[in-house]
Amino acid sequence: MMNKVKSLYIHIPFCNNICDYCDFTKLQYFRNFAVSYLDTLEKELKGYQIEELKTIYVGGGTPTALEDDLFEKLLEIIKPYSNGVQEYTFEANPESLTSQKVSLLKQYGVNRVSLGVQTTNQKILNELNRKHDFTQVKEAIKCLNDAGIENYNVDLILGLPHTSEKILRQDLENILALNPKHISCYGLTIHPHTALFNRGFQEPEGDVLRQYYDIVNEVLASNGFIHYEVSNWTKPGYQSEHNLTYWRNEQYFGCGLGASGYIGNIRYKNTINLDRYLKGEYVQEKEVVTSDDQRTYQIMLNLRTIEGLDVLFAKGKEKEIASMIDSGLLIKKDGRLVPTYEGMMVLDQILLKLI
Ligand code: SF4
Repeated sequence: MMNKVKSLYIHIPFCNNICDYCDFTKLQYFRNFAVSYLDTLEKELKGYQIEELKTIYVGGGTPTALEDDLFEKLLEIIKPYSNGVQEYTFEANPESLTSQKVSLLKQYGVNRVSLGVQTTNQKILNELNRKHDFTQVKEAIKCLNDAGIENYNVDLILGLPHTSEKILRQDLENILALNPKHISCYGLTIHPHTALFNRGFQEPEGDVLRQYYDIVNEVLASNGFIHYEVSNWTKPGYQSEHNLTYWRNEQYFGCGLGASGYIGNIRYKNTINLDRYLKGEYVQEKEVVTSDDQRTYQIMLNLRTIEGLDVLFAKGKEKEIASMIDSGLLIKKDGRLVPTYEGMMVLDQILLKLI
């Protein structure tokens, strides 16, 4: 059977510092854990038949939290799979993306970096317990440009504590001056048991968040960005090919603590327990994807982007579709249903009608 899995996600769970809103799979960085982790990750990768990938995405946690020798070891572990890869991304935090790490990334063929910035406002960064300032963001971007890695994404969070329309506009102005090719903006989620939750902070109200999205969309559109996914904007030609794998409902390998993958008709999730992971008990949950599930995933994921959904997946829903086209939530283009900006902002309502 031909191997159709063209994308690989690798999770590096270590962070030098834990942010007050974080609900990702992450652990405080300790060198001895990181050494064992990389050995185990290498074995896990070898257990899959990974060939001719199109994209690799190394996320976290904070991959750049690894010390330089371990960072290089990670790149060496991935090297057998990175030959010919079209898009090879590393996530990074500004304070740990040093010029040494950038030159290692360049040397091993990494051609895209996603930088966790969240906001450029120092007071809010302190509230979040983020350990970088905007000067470090500028320095990290300079290192990337000097090394010729010009494809970088900046992550922002909307609706942070103490934020305002003015702060958001300032964030966008600061970020645009760095010439990113891609910007991701996610609304703040306050998860139980996080420090922000314990301090009584709340998520922004829906209409406030919508107002922030409208500002982001207006400012980025007027600066040449395309809104191509609910929370993602790109300069032409720089959309995230790796993330499009997910949104197209295509298969991918997922390796590392807490990583998810989709191979054949199985969606799986790795354990978030480090002891188990280090013992080689990687996969914790498996879901067999039936043809009904496949259709549901196709609708949920395809409608997140302007590539849209093949109308064949929405058979029998012609009346609902016509009404959503009338109300400006969807358009029909080349046999596909494409969400408008308005549609993306109320995606849940569209999905309810189609699933
Ligand atoms: S750097 Fe990212 S993964 Fe690590 S604690 Fe902060 S938000 Fe979580």
